Formats: sequence, structure tokens, C-alpha cells
Amino acid sequence: MPFVARVLLPLPLPEAFDYAVPEEISLSVGDHVAAPLGPRLVRGVVTELRDAHGVNRPLKPIAARLDDAALPANTLAFVDWAARYACEPPGEALAMALRGLRASQPAPERLVQATGAAPFRTTPARERVLKAATQPMRAAALAAAAEVSAGVIKGLIDDGALEVVFAQEQAAFSEPDPALPAFDLNPSQAAAADILVKLTQAGDFQVALLDGVTGSGKTEVYLEAVAAVLRADPAAQVLVLLPEIALTQAVIARFAARFGAEPAEWHSGIAPPRRRRVWEAVVAGRCRIVIGARSALFLPFPNLRLIVVDEEHDASFKQEDGFIYHARDLAVVRAKIEAATVVLASATPSLESIWNAQGGRYTWIRLSSRHGVARLPEIELIDMREAPPERGRWLSPRLVAAMAETYGRGEQSLLFLNRRGYAPLVLCKACGERMTAPDTDSWLVEHRYSNRLVCHLTGFSMPKPAACPHCGTKDSLTAIGPGVERLEEEARGLFPEARVAVFSSDTVMDAAGAREMVGRMAGGEIDILVATQAAAKGHNFPGLTLVGVVDADLGLKGGDLRAAERTYQLLAQVAGRAGRAERPGRALIQTYAPEHQVMGALKAGDRDGFLAAEAEMRELSGLPPYGRLAAVILSSPDFAKLDAFAKALAAAAPSADGVEVYGPADAPLALIRGRRRKRLLVRADRRVNIQAYLEAWRARVKVPGAVRMTVDVDPYSFL
Ligand code: ADP
Repeated sequence: MPFVARVLLPLPLPEAFDYAVPEEISLSVGDHVAAPLGPRLVRGVVTELRDAHGVNRPLKPIAARLDDAALPANTLAFVDWAARYACEPPGEALAMALRGLRASQPAPERLVQATGAAPFRTTPARERVLKAATQPMRAAALAAAAEVSAGVIKGLIDDGALEVVFAQEQAAFSEPDPALPAFDLNPSQAAAADILVKLTQAGDFQVALLDGVTGSGKTEVYLEAVAAVLRADPAAQVLVLLPEIALTQAVIARFAARFGAEPAEWHSGIAPPRRRRVWEAVVAGRCRIVIGARSALFLPFPNLRLIVVDEEHDASFKQEDGFIYHARDLAVVRAKIEAATVVLASATPSLESIWNAQGGRYTWIRLSSRHGVARLPEIELIDMREAPPERGRWLSPRLVAAMAETYGRGEQSLLFLNRRGYAPLVLCKACGERMTAPDTDSWLVEHRYSNRLVCHLTGFSMPKPAACPHCGTKDSLTAIGPGVERLEEEARGLFPEARVAVFSSDTVMDAAGAREMVGRMAGGEIDILVATQAAAKGHNFPGLTLVGVVDADLGLKGGDLRAAERTYQLLAQVAGRAGRAERPGRALIQTYAPEHQVMGALKAGDRDGFLAAEAEMRELSGLPPYGRLAAVILSSPDFAKLDAFAKALAAAAPSADGVEVYGPADAPLALIRGRRRKRLLVRADRRVNIQAYLEAWRARVKVPGAVRMTVDVDPYSFL
């Protein structure tokens, strides 16, 4: 009897297709094949094999089996689950799992290794490199492990103390050694590590919430769980997810130091050939530890035993375009499928995770004080209505005085403002015209480094015009409000001798840039760091004792259900960068709303009280985690068609017990790239299967060609 293969293609098609399996091709589930789709041959993955019994139509034959390693059954199960959860075509989830295969066969990799020869000149930095160069490594990894710049590595190659080798693929992923010495854990860390290790030994699905204040040493604790997993099973694999590339670098360095081997790195900044190498090593089990951004969750691990989601509260775990998913939530699902342990770590856990911990579904592990002599920073509020800065300035006299003291003591300050560029708004003094993007509902942001006006939503940019495009008046365009570049200008004006730097996605563009900036700050080469949230998370800057939050109210505006929670998390995290070593730290928070409950909770350090009040509000209104939400976003360049379909869609909503549908309403961002946007929101009780509801709804309508419909299950953005 001939065989039929069900093949899932990594494309937005509603389902997998059946193909005939020619006799000469032998296949297993998970294999990659080339299959005909219309006139083309496309890659697909076999999800099922059965005999042709009952098939009464001719099937197209599979063209070939491809050489790439088969996807493990659990990875396929995860892909299927993720697609169902997100209400997306299954091929979209498969595409995530195949992202490593976009590049063709990579060239041999360039590594460096020690020659044994002494360099002509020794410096502490050079010594650190030679000590860390125990085996062939990528130059960037060696630089990270030794905390030096790329120049130091190059110098040592020129000197003959290091040499370049082109490595076999296998050699590029060295074995981590869990037996290397760790820090001595303090008693609360040891107790926490003990619980985690026991969970990993249970051999089944376990979730732990590692809830420890900033600087409590959570990383050292989960490193012990990683060590235990590696020790227990010589084939075990570990995945660590982080929200920022900048943070990835720091954590990679700590893993390299702890286990004497560089973990694999996975995020959008990694070039396709390197990705393919990581993908292949992961599926072959040759790579034991992966540290990466959210998309690493879709890698084809055959033996994933532990997932760590560090900074689990962070909103960047939610992917907002393409395949929409929340990596923290899907990490829990993946761990369940793999019967593995997942550790969610944060100083400011999400309300969802706290709720799960309170309900006993997650093991709740708390660390309530900082490691060693470090103390949590004092947090003070500055009421900007009482003590405003001078006109055209953004730093209040109190914050400036604190910066002067800090600088005078040779310590570091961090000014936090979550706004890139020089000024968030540019307007004409003569006619009042506001500069907006041509096809998008957003104001253009002035960037002085590049002298351009930029739309942060779409990336559109244009040179700053010399005259107002509306009334033609020359030199009339004025920058309104501050961005980090403007704060830098103010800080330089106030402290002309100080070393000031800006940390934002405009100044730190890639992993190497992040490593360098973090290295300079940690090494005391910067006195005042002006930063967006790129620098607010997770970092350890021992000399940093003052954090100034320039505009604490920024995130509170808008109708986002998590606005208060998110502001609390962000500000508590930023404040938590201060005073992480011997010297005490403080955080000064500039606000126009000191009476807001977020500000009160920050000042009092009352996270639990704040969360309890938030939880009560959510419970009363049936919002997550007490209820379910899904957003339906419609967009089209044709407003009439959009409007008509939005109304038809709302009218077609099935009525169901415990489900309410709101809208359609114009989206707050009503126009993006020339497409008008409308939103509907579904709220459902927890017991409702919201995916099934959405499917039933979608089946009742036909989306016109001019309209794009996106479903966002558990939305985090309401724009
Ligand atoms: P968290 O992630 O909880 O904010 P980290 O794990 O980054 O904290 O630890 C904060 C700092 O304390 C780091 O510099 C870390 O190396 C140090 N540290 C933590 N635990 C120990 C320990 N047991 N011994 C020595 N140093 C430690």
C-alpha cells in the first residue's frame, strides 16, 4: 500500500496538505521535504504518515527528502499548540521553528585560540583574555568573557599570543562544565537554589516563580539549577530567555564564567549563517545552553530540561507583529510539553505570575534582600509642580543637586527617560503646525545626531526642513519636550567636565555596541548615563549610586489595562540599578502626580500592596488574569470597505454566555503606513475557550481582499 504524508508548509495556509510518498523516498515524522505547491517546490515538514487507505483522489508526490535534521516530536507538538493558542495558521508557527534554516550551508567559522606564546606587553585586560582563552572561541565571545574590547583581541593576534583558526562545526560548541566552582551562595540564595534543584529533579513539568528584589542574586540562584540539570543528564539542554540583546551579553558572560564554555546566542542580531549553525547544533543535541530573545523558544531542542525566563514581567516577551505570541506564556506551555522545569525570574513579577503563584500553580520562591552589604535604594518623589526646572530645562533643582553630590564623590548617575531622540514633537512657532508623518498617525521625533525627523512607528524619516512646510516661515520649527539627546545636552551644560553618554537604540545598535557601552559603564568610564529602557533592565553597575527618573508619568497615559503595572515595574527596575555594591544608592523620581498609587507604592516600597489593589480592580472588571481578552484589529487603505466590514464583523459576533464584544472603534493609532485601523475587543470569563469562540466567529464572515484582519489573543498593546 502506498504511503501518504501530511506536510505542514511554513506559510500562512489554513492547514497541512496530503502528498503521496514515492516508493524510493523513505520518510519519518519530522523530516523535511520538498513538496510541490502550485508551480513551485517548497520546504515542508512531515507531521503524519499513514497508508493511502480511503484516499480516493490523486495526490501530488513529494519531490525529495531534504537533508536537514528532523524536527523532534515535541517541537512539532509545540508548534501545533502555539498556533492554536494564537489563532494563527499552523504554518506561521512552523516558520518560527525553521528560522534557523534561512541561510544555506555556512562557511567554516573563524575562531581564535591561545598559541601559548607570551605577548610583547602584558596588561590586566590582556591577562584576562589569555586566562579566558582555554579553547577555540569566537573573538566576540572571548572579548565578552574577558570583558575587553575587540581591539584587545586584535592586539593579541598581532602579537602572536592568539591565533585565528577555522573550526569544524562541532568544535564551535564546547561542553559546559557544571563542576567548575560557583560563588558561595548566601543562606537565602542557597535555600532558593535548593528548591529549584529539587524541582528539576522531579522529572516532570514544574513552574517556579523566582521572585527576588533587584540585586538579590537571582542569576546565581538559577545558575545552580542549570548546573544541576547539566550534571543530572549529559544530554540535557537549557534555554534562557531575556528581553534585551544588551542583557543577553551580560548573562552570556556570566554563563561562560560559570561553566567555562560559551553558550549559544540567539536573537535578531545574529547573522543567518551563525543561526543555521546554532539551529543544527541544537537539533543534534550538540549545543547544551542557548541564551536568547523570545524567538529562541521555537528552536528544535530534542532534550530541553530547563527554561529560564529572566525579567519575566517584561513586555518585550510579547511579539506584536507577524506571529503574535507571548514568550513567557508559551515557555510554560513548552515546558509542559517537554515535561521540563520553567523558572520565571523577576524583581517585579507580572500580576499574572503572582496570581498563579498565589493559587499554588507555581512554586513561589522569594528573595527579600540584596546580596552582601548592598541595600535597596532610597526612593524619593520630586513633585514637579512644587519645584519645576527652569523654562526649557527638564531636570529639577533637587535632581541636579543630587547629581552634583554624586559626581563630586566620584560616583555614577543614570538619568532615565523612555524617549529616544532629541524632542518628541516639532512645531512651527509661526503657524502652530505640528510635524506629522505623511502616512501615519504619529508625530515626528527630532533626532539631532542624524539631523532628521523620524517616525518611531514605521521608521519613516526626513531631513529637518529649514522652513515650515505649512506656512513657509524660515527657522520657525521648534523642538518641544525632551528626549534622551536633549537631556544629554542639559547634563553636559551642567557638568562640563563629566563624561556623559547616551544609551538608546540609536547609540547602541547591536550586541557588540551593547557590550561596549555596558563595559564602559560598569568599568566607571562614564559619569552620567542618559538612558532609555534599553539600559534600565538587569544590569549591574557597581559605581552607580544615583538614578534620576526624568518623567515618571510618561507610561501612565493612555487606556492600557497594564499601564500602572508596567510603570511600577519599569520604575522599580530602573531604581534598582542604584546602590548594587557597597555604596548606598538612591532614586529620585520626577512626577506631576505624586499622589498616584504607583508613585506612592514606589516610595513606600510596597509592591505587594500595589499589586493587591491592581488585582482587585482587574477582578472587579473581569480582566486578565481573572478573565480573558482578545483583540481583533482590522486595517485597510480603503476606509469605506474597512468601515463596512468592521460593522458586519461586529454584527456577526456569536452570542455566548460569559463573552462580551466591544467595538468596532477607531484604533488610537488610526492610520499606519496609509492603512486605516479599527479595533474590536473580546472579553470572556476564564472558563470560556476564547480561541474556539474566535474560530466560530471568523467562520461566519468572509474578510474582503482589501481588509487585513489580525487576532491578538491576550493583547498587551491597545494601540
Ligand atoms: P539580580 O538578578 O537578582 O538583580 P544578580 O544575580 O545580578 O542579581 O546579582 C547581583 C550582584 O551580586 C552580581 O554582581 C552578582 O555577581 C553578585 N552576587 C550575587 N550572588 C552572589 C554570591 N553568592 N557571591 C558573590 N557575589 C554574588
